[in-house]
Amino acid sequence: MLLATDLDGTFLAGDNDQRLKLYQLIAAHPEIKLAFVTGRGLESVLPLLSDPMIPEPDYIICDVGCTVVDGRTQQAIQPLQGDIDKRWPGEHVVDQAVAHIPNLQRQDVPQERRFSFFCDATAISGELEEAVRGLDCDLLFSAGLYLDILPKGVNKGSTLRGLVEHLGIGDESVLVAGDTLNDLSMYEHGFIGVCVGESEPALLKGTENRARVYHAEHPGCGGILQAIEHFGFLGAAGMEAEQRDVQVPGKSDLVIVYHRLPYEEYRENGETIRRRPTSPNGIIPTLMSFFAQGRAGSWVAWSLHEESDGKFETHTEVDTARYPNLVAARVALSGDDMDIFYKKFSKEAFWPTLHTFWERATFREDHWQVFLDVNRRFAEVAASEAAEGATVWIHDYNLWMVPAFLREIRPDVVIAFFHHTYFPSADVFNVIPWRRDIIGSLLQCDYIGFHIPRQSENFVDVARGVTPLVVTEKMSCSPRFLSYGCAVGLDEMSTEIQVNDRRICLGAHPVGLDLKRVEDALSNAKVQRRMVQLREELQGTRMILSVGRLDYTKGILEQLEAYERLLEQHPDLHDKVTLMMVCVPAASEMTIYRDLQQQIEQAVGRINGRFAKVGWTPLQFFFRSLPFAELVAYYSMADVMWITPLRDGLNLVAKEYIATQGMTDGAGVLVLSEFAGAAAELRGPILANPHDRNELVQTCYFALNLNREEARSRMREAYDVVRHNDIKLWGDEFMAAVDVCGKLADRAVLKEAVPALA
Ligand code: UDP
Repeated sequence: MLLATDLDGTFLAGDNDQRLKLYQLIAAHPEIKLAFVTGRGLESVLPLLSDPMIPEPDYIICDVGCTVVDGRTQQAIQPLQGDIDKRWPGEHVVDQAVAHIPNLQRQDVPQERRFSFFCDATAISGELEEAVRGLDCDLLFSAGLYLDILPKGVNKGSTLRGLVEHLGIGDESVLVAGDTLNDLSMYEHGFIGVCVGESEPALLKGTENRARVYHAEHPGCGGILQAIEHFGFLGAAGMEAEQRDVQVPGKSDLVIVYHRLPYEEYRENGETIRRRPTSPNGIIPTLMSFFAQGRAGSWVAWSLHEESDGKFETHTEVDTARYPNLVAARVALSGDDMDIFYKKFSKEAFWPTLHTFWERATFREDHWQVFLDVNRRFAEVAASEAAEGATVWIHDYNLWMVPAFLREIRPDVVIAFFHHTYFPSADVFNVIPWRRDIIGSLLQCDYIGFHIPRQSENFVDVARGVTPLVVTEKMSCSPRFLSYGCAVGLDEMSTEIQVNDRRICLGAHPVGLDLKRVEDALSNAKVQRRMVQLREELQGTRMILSVGRLDYTKGILEQLEAYERLLEQHPDLHDKVTLMMVCVPAASEMTIYRDLQQQIEQAVGRINGRFAKVGWTPLQFFFRSLPFAELVAYYSMADVMWITPLRDGLNLVAKEYIATQGMTDGAGVLVLSEFAGAAAELRGPILANPHDRNELVQTCYFALNLNREEARSRMREAYDVVRHNDIKLWGDEFMAAVDVCGKLADRAVLKEAVPALA
């Protein structure tokens, strides 16, 4: 069967349940071929192709029949398209011929091989008809509003007829569906047809005597479903096919979807042992805290499992004492899946692009397929855990495609997403070959949070290039965030957008610290001993501290070169300063970091080789991860913290330094890249542009010489921000925002609140 359907008022209309039912029916029946037959131009059809809820068409006939393309490739179907092209005199020829005719307003929407106006019936004058005859074109007026000048003999029906013959399908296997007069031509070729409920009266009149045309009662998709049943296209069993896959809701009110489990798993003597995370970052405990007071919940995460391992435990306990109703729902991933999905593809394709290093990215279609498959599995597990109307909170770009799969199975849940990584502007993001799919997926969320307004606004910028969207709410970024004071500042951000009938709320939530963790480290006797020891070792030398992972985004090489220049330009610093650089190695499988490591090691060797003297090592390089407590000892001793990533989602190290110095009333100085998300949030650091070598040198020198009073007052200002906006507030504010927009996502509430959508 070929379902050839108009879009607006037909395939995109009807109540939500019926739409979903029809779309699922099509997905469940691959033998149904789908053709969109629309008055829209091709460009206005593209956004629908990235909407995961709408089935992908096999064919697209658009521009009222003037364009005919393959649905998947969007390449013209020949020779049909060529035949149409020959009949079209060209846009500018048509324009000249009708320019003098009054009361016609050109439609400012995408259009090809046709010329479209808005007008009322009185504008269709003899003069216009004569001009169109002179062009050897046709005129088509519909819905009392749309006027099209079309190539002679071309309309939706003629092109559909051509396509059906081209494909060799029998007329009785074609169901056409429409609702306005410009659909009439589809019913004039002997196909089976349906005029959906609420069709334009002129269309109903034009088709009333046609035996094979059914006038449905329900509008939009509901009418198409009635027609499929009426004509018996699928038989009774076929109509029920989609019912089989209906997901039974689970029991969890809150489902966290995070790539990592909330506990550590390791293998010992062939057995899997679980333990609390040895170095928990603040986020996992914070997310777990939402399951306190016995709240029912699930934590969906991967777990390594090979087929040879035997039976896989899908559900495990997490912490029965503290969170009795929290379970971990595990997604079994093989070593190969994990390698491709996480270590290779995410890091080689998305990570560089997100951080604006797009020229380093490699995109592989086969890896994307693995990524999709893993995301689908995460979504399926989340769907089976979530209770009716539950909130599902998905984390970061590894799980970008989860909303698309999840929304399809569970339209009732509130989907929230937090993007932990930097989000670039459209100029960069659009390099990703699957950008439409990714944005289409994210637009299924009810709430999306980013660290800072700039990242959120970049998302809006990218989404606008994928689909028509309206910004329905904005807010000023000040005073919470910097507006003009740093490279990632912004004055105003969109907090709600509307795409078709969906509203998506957006928010900026910079991740905060678990201050207790810093406090505990500071009061730890071992750390205090280490601090004393460091003080002795450093006697007479000022310490610049740099901490970051081995990654080109962290600007380590640039920093080393700047340090070399600093020592060149300021011999007064020799003997008096030392740079301690902690560089956390990447996992050994991540081959893309090997070159960088070599270059860094060379630079370190060169600098020490050039400047070291007996009793003075200008640069101490630690190529390993330090335990957090030891790091805090370093933070407390550092005169200057030098954090200059080329691009960073946030940067927690900067905040940890501020917390340590703030708690000890220190006079350390933070030099922070204005390209780190934290720069948009903190007050007090000295900001530097890491792409400007001179500035890197100057700001570091300035920081080393800053008087203690100013340093202390800058630190107090920064600590005020870090202390208040801790990790608990981050989680609470995010969840509160999700709750508000989750209520809005309830269609009934939304229609009451926004009558225009009713
Ligand atoms: N970290 C650590 N030991 C080290 C270096 C870093 O425990 O030797 C921790 C640090 O305390 C911080 C995290 O790693 O919490 C790094 O977070 P950040 O946001 O600065 O950078 P990311 O690595 O997430 O890009």
